[in-house]
Amino acid sequence: YTCLMMDGHEVTVVDNFFTGRKRNVEHWIGHENFELINHDVVEPLYIEVDQIYHLASPASPPNYMYNPIKTLKTNTIGTLNMLGLAKRVGARLLLASTSEVYGDPEVHPQNEEYWGHVNPIGPRACYDEGKRVAETMCYAYMKQEGVEVRVARIFNTFGSRMHMNDGRVVSNFILQALQGEPLTVYGTGSQTRAFQYVSDLVNGLVLLMNSNISSPVNLGNPEEHTILEFARLIKSLVGNRSQIQFLPEAQDDPQRRRPDIRKAKMMLGWEPVVPLEEGLNKTIQYFNRELEHQANNQYIPKPKAARMKKGRPRHN
Ligand code: UDP
Ligand code: UDP
Repeated sequence: YTCLMMDGHEVTVVDNFFTGRKRNVEHWIGHENFELINHDVVEPLYIEVDQIYHLASPASPPNYMYNPIKTLKTNTIGTLNMLGLAKRVGARLLLASTSEVYGDPEVHPQNEEYWGHVNPIGPRACYDEGKRVAETMCYAYMKQEGVEVRVARIFNTFGSRMHMNDGRVVSNFILQALQGEPLTVYGTGSQTRAFQYVSDLVNGLVLLMNSNISSPVNLGNPEEHTILEFARLIKSLVGNRSQIQFLPEAQDDPQRRRPDIRKAKMMLGWEPVVPLEEGLNKTIQYFNRELEHQANNQYIPKPKAARMKKGRPRHN
């Protein structure tokens, strides 16, 4: 929204703060182009807008599995409400869809033509099937009501302002490495992902919104690595001696994932420009500051006597 506001747009942020944080937007409160509404899209919303970036829904597996019914409601009823709003005011709606619509893919890399391989009753289904039906709803509203829709299939993304307890792999590994804890690899670590930095995604979303492409478009960075490679890379960038700890594999975990982004390249002139290491370094710095912030805010002074005893190890 920052780049939209800088372009002179009035931005209304709608959030129920289920996974978002006020701290990520509070510096804009009071800006003439900014408005914040504490609202859950599962409830109807009556406002006047030209464009809707429909980004609602937890996206981290532990978050969306924590309350699968809420995840389903957000992606179904929430999407219905946003499409109803788009229809009423004649707005264009961009749906933040996901690479999860491809499930545990049998086609590699994944292009937009692939229909996917999703377990409809597995632990990821609330999110995967929720996003799949959200896409279906977009095209039903387009066909029947003439609503203008854009569908971005977003692949793994990371960056500054992620929640410390997000639970996805990049933030987990960075926090673990910064705190000298073991990096938790689920399964053998031979499963792959490809990660884009958040600023590349934002540019892609704005380009797609303002394009004339109504069919789905993959947005992601095609540089693919195994999870074990990510663990080693993050360890070396943070530069400490954390161990790597292997934990049981997650159920229905997609084994290979890499976006085919030829469509975005050809039709939007978009491709990621932030190199992986640069994005990781920015994110490491961000989490480092977050840890300091947390330490400063939770600092409870010890009794003077304890602080004055020199030469003894301090356990805080
Ligand atoms: N809706 C909304 N804001 C609006 C218009 C509609 O939240 O400005 C919701 C409304 O509650 C409805 C849903 O969007 O449940 C779908 O709207 P639509 O007009 O397609 O359905 P209808 O109201 O005719 O059932
Ligand atoms: N993963 C891991 N350790 C963690 C968190 C995740 O090894 O602490 C693995 C997970 O099993 C998956 C990959 O990293 O294979 C990406 O997981 P994430 O939850 O970030 O997103 P997903 O792509 O699965 O939605």
